[in-house]
Amino acid sequence: MTAAEAIRVAVEAVPDPELPVLTIAELGILRAVMVRDGRAVVTVTPTYSGCPATEAIAADVVAAAKSAGASEVEVRTVLAPAWTSDWISADGRRKLAAAGIAPPPENRPSGAVTVALSVRCPQCGSPDTRQQSRFSSTACKSLWVCANCRETFEHFKAH
Ligand SMILES: [Zn+2]
Repeated sequence: MTAAEAIRVAVEAVPDPELPVLTIAELGILRAVMVRDGRAVVTVTPTYSGCPATEAIAADVVAAAKSAGASEVEVRTVLAPAWTSDWISADGRRKLAAAGIAPPPENRPSGAVTVALSVRCPQCGSPDTRQQSRFSSTACKSLWVCANCRETFEHFKAH
């Protein structure tokens, strides 16, 4: 592995501060890692501009790249094109489901604003669920309750 590859791998392995089961690469917010002469330029697109995790992600990216040998790290935040939940990788979706977080729907028509009327319960699979609050532990997730098994679960918001 070259020094540049080692830095890229280290940055790709940074966990998302709000969804630590996923790496920033799996979540799709890591857009690019460029390394030249030990200097890394990392481009990230936050899940949405109100997400307070952006600063934490930048700090973690800098720490990871430096520990992998980068002499200098620049984190660029790019807001356009906007992140969409379609950027979550297949592995990322599986990990979300395994963590009991309902993954956002796939294959939404592009440009359409999705209002999720029913979210399937990740515990028992029942579609008989309702939204309990718009925000749960973080602004990026909403809290749902299942009428079948009475479990509450977090749904990662689609954007
Ligand atoms: Zn359920």
